[in-house]
Amino acid sequence: MFLINCPTCQSQHLVGYGAVRSFENSEHGPLMTFECPNGHEALWAARPEELAATQAA
Ligand SMILES: [Zn+2]
Repeated sequence: MFLINCPTCQSQHLVGYGAVRSFENSEHGPLMTFECPNGHEALWAARPEELAATQAA
């Protein structure tokens, strides 16, 4: 199970592999796109601090 932070719902959801839309092995570690229980897209990163640093730059 993964705890995702849906930016549209502005809340966290616990989802399983069935909610995975895509998987990417980026230079910042594994990135997965999930579908939140309400149908939105939410990103999960193994190393979210690095991802945030990249997006802020
Ligand atoms: Zn949502």
